Amino acid sequence: MELKYKSKINKIRGFALGLIFAGMILMYIGLYFKEQEWIMITFMILGVLSIIFSTIVYFWIGMLSTKAVVVTCPSCHKETKMLGRVDACMHCKQPLTLDKSLEGKEFDEKYNLKKYQKE
Ligand SMILES: [Zn+2]
Repeated sequence: MELKYKSKINKIRGFALGLIFAGMILMYIGLYFKEQEWIMITFMILGVLSIIFSTIVYFWIGMLSTKAVVVTCPSCHKETKMLGRVDACMHCKQPLTLDKSLEGKEFDEKYNLKKYQKE
């Protein structure tokens, strides 16, 4: 079964990595505007900001990882970390759940929303 969902931790990591690249590209673009100092400085500041932001995101993943539950994936038998009631395996994207009542149901990230947790 091919899932369009990624493991949440992998998804956030991908986002943080994207921010670093965005920051580098912004600073690189800034170098093209050497004559117009204020444009260059604006791009540099934006670049630095997105790299700082990605560091914060990486820090946040670290915090989340300590709260994540380590489970052994039934599909690939590797250890994976999951967040929330439903998540996907980090290695093979196998949908996982901690909630017995959701077993066998179709994978849906909506089960992580607060209003579904009360039901
Ligand atoms: Zn797996």
